[in-house]
Amino acid sequence: MEVNLISDTVTKPSEGMLQAIMEARVGDDVFKNDPSVNALEAKVADYFGMEAALFFPSGTMANQTAIKLHTQPGEQLICDKYAHVYNYEGGGVSFNSGVSCKLVDGHRGMMTASQVEESINPPDFYHSPLTTLVCIENTTNKGGGACWDFEALKKIKKVCDANGLQYHLDGARLWNALVAKNEDPKDYGQLFDTISVCLSKGLGCPVGSVLVGNKELIDKAVRVRKVLGGGMRQSGFLAAAGIYALDNNIARLSEDHEKAAEIGKVLSHLPYVKKVEPIETNIIIFELDEQKMSSEVFLDTLQQKQISIIGMGQGKLRMVTHLDYTQIMHNHLLQTLKSIG
Ligand SMILES: *Cc1c(COP(=O)(O)O)cnc(C)c1O
Repeated sequence: MEVNLISDTVTKPSEGMLQAIMEARVGDDVFKNDPSVNALEAKVADYFGMEAALFFPSGTMANQTAIKLHTQPGEQLICDKYAHVYNYEGGGVSFNSGVSCKLVDGHRGMMTASQVEESINPPDFYHSPLTTLVCIENTTNKGGGACWDFEALKKIKKVCDANGLQYHLDGARLWNALVAKNEDPKDYGQLFDTISVCLSKGLGCPVGSVLVGNKELIDKAVRVRKVLGGGMRQSGFLAAAGIYALDNNIARLSEDHEKAAEIGKVLSHLPYVKKVEPIETNIIIFELDEQKMSSEVFLDTLQQKQISIIGMGQGKLRMVTHLDYTQIMHNHLLQTLKSIG
């Protein structure tokens, strides 16, 4: 039995999802003629109570498109130092938009309204780049799946409004936050100018992300997506998987969260584990006591039991629970962890 916890992107389409893919009605989406893509976009827009949505091949492309829509070359965006848009999108912020990032030293990937306010360059001081955008991430990836307090997001929105800044949410795992905190997606739709969500993580789709916003922005996004090479043809086969996932795979995310919490509990009682970061959703970040057990030996030992997890650098290790991580695998992992060391 192989247990793959390196990410929640490792899932494969279920029988039901494959069936939905097989039965999809499709057309050429570059001509906006794919009924399944149109249905998915309408469904996601409606879910957030926003005007329009656009299907993307990846979350990276959805985020990069949003940044391009909200900025001009030379400008600056504000994000946490852990942000995916800064760390893991290949330098796309500068490559695609000619924009720099002002990094905030937040807590677990989350910043406060006053930190954001302090990071805004004075607009009439022409020596510094013009600040035009704030990017939020929920849940935070490098921050260990932490969820924002909605009130904190509202405070940042006030700062944005007072300073004429756009407000983008990288919601690759927003589904996890919505389930964990029992929040209303429409509240998010009201707060942000654009939101990107991934279908290929916790929701178990093979491919796909969606960007939501108002109609004017999404109309412009079609061109940016085209420029980035993201115009797809019979992508309704992928959109059908997305529709299936939205109907079937959101509520069950709580199971992933429960399993993650159980793993965290076991880890925190092991003599060779130094620290487990608080677990709010499906991401577990922990550190070993390297005197007692080196990360190398630990990863090797797990690998021998066909368990894969991932190193995050700086001595941090990560596991992510997901749709294809079954109860039997869970038992096997917990047993194995207890038997090492
Ligand atoms: C995974 C992820 C993305 C986008 O990833 P793709 O692999 O390009 O789909 C964006 N933001 C965060 C926080 C992520 O975890």
